[in-house]
Amino acid sequence: MESILLLEPSSTQKRQALAQILRDPQTAAEGDREEITKRLRSLRTAAVKARKDLLERLQSAAKEQTARRWFFAADAAGAAAIIRRICPDTGAVAVNKSAVVTAEVAPFLRAAGTKIVEPYYDGLAETEARFTQAWQLPEVPLAASRNAFQREDDLPARRRQSLREKGARNLAAVIGVNALAAQDGSAVLLQHRTNIRRMLTECRRIILVAGIDKIVPTPEDAVFQASCMAWFGTAALALDLGRKANKAPALDDYPFTIPPGGALEKITVILLDNGRSGIATGAYGALLQCIGCRACVASCPAGEYFGAPRPSPRELLLADLQNAAAPLAHCLQCECCRSACPLSLDLPGMILDRRHRRARSFPALSDRLLANAEIVERLGSRLAPLANLFLQNELVKKISEAAGGIDRRRTLPFFAAKPFADIYRDFRSRSGK
Ligand code: SF4
Ligand code: SF4
Repeated sequence: MESILLLEPSSTQKRQALAQILRDPQTAAEGDREEITKRLRSLRTAAVKARKDLLERLQSAAKEQTARRWFFAADAAGAAAIIRRICPDTGAVAVNKSAVVTAEVAPFLRAAGTKIVEPYYDGLAETEARFTQAWQLPEVPLAASRNAFQREDDLPARRRQSLREKGARNLAAVIGVNALAAQDGSAVLLQHRTNIRRMLTECRRIILVAGIDKIVPTPEDAVFQASCMAWFGTAALALDLGRKANKAPALDDYPFTIPPGGALEKITVILLDNGRSGIATGAYGALLQCIGCRACVASCPAGEYFGAPRPSPRELLLADLQNAAAPLAHCLQCECCRSACPLSLDLPGMILDRRHRRARSFPALSDRLLANAEIVERLGSRLAPLANLFLQNELVKKISEAAGGIDRRRTLPFFAAKPFADIYRDFRSRSGK
């Protein structure tokens, strides 16, 4: 058995439910978050650990399949070359919003002259960009978003029927996969609008691209992982909604020129490494546990400075590790992403570490202070109120600005002479609790 499963708010009712969640998230309770995150953590930790074994299992399952063509690409340039080889006669490809496609493979396709169509943004107007900042987004309780998605099976059958009856657009659809089962090659895709369903049923060729970190043991694991992506990432959906430029090509700009009943081609799957194997064994191995839910995007106050459309902190760091020199210096080290992440990934720590490694033995003073925040705070507390007078001194402010990039107009928080832990201990001993 091999299948493509789609998770989506497919009925009008489900779409309305999702819209209602974003309008009024307080209508639902939090749900069994702890249980879900526990299962997700154990799945992701085990999947990263067993990545070689899972890849081998998937590759031997792929040999048994005749309905798909499988390729392995060592890097994004190689994946783009495979796509161009498969589609020698199309000057354009339609892509979904998945970072493995838009951030990794699409730049190489563009550089080779292939036009990129992004149906996700079709029909969206600039006015729909209601939320432009993370702090404007509503809090979405897990239980609310869990009710908004449903699973649809057997998309290949729907595709065959549609091509038989309506024909196809002369476009290749390049779709990033959210989870892939080693057991039988089942691919799970998550969509929030109708773009993936349209691409799967209307495009002449289908190419699925999966980062090797997306492989999990069974189809049930794959559905669970993609479901978590949907549940935890609902709020982030509302960011960057109206981004599409007016002149950007839409799916409808490519008519159905392949007649009904035209040749049906096999679906292609490209397994993409692009540095992941190396990352897995290094200091940033935990990064591969990420499921791409974008809960961190919905909490990051610096996201708009990372790029457009805004990458998640994880995508930012991954791009940097893949030699794309990302603007890591814009990270404020606020830790919001870590507390929003269902896997509690220490993105701030990894970003800071990467910044240090880039700067070799001369990290910026501000980075050194942030990296040693506990020592600085303990010292400042011991030396208060002298340390507070020092911080307010104009000459010190000028030196901090020049040496550490701390704006001199900023009033830094004062050090308390008595640490909070001591105040709390006193309070407890006084109240006898
Ligand atoms: S720590 Fe950095 S990446 Fe994480 S939310 Fe704050 S600014 Fe964004
Ligand atoms: S790092 Fe971000 S995208 Fe990845 S699992 Fe955590 S919150 Fe989701």
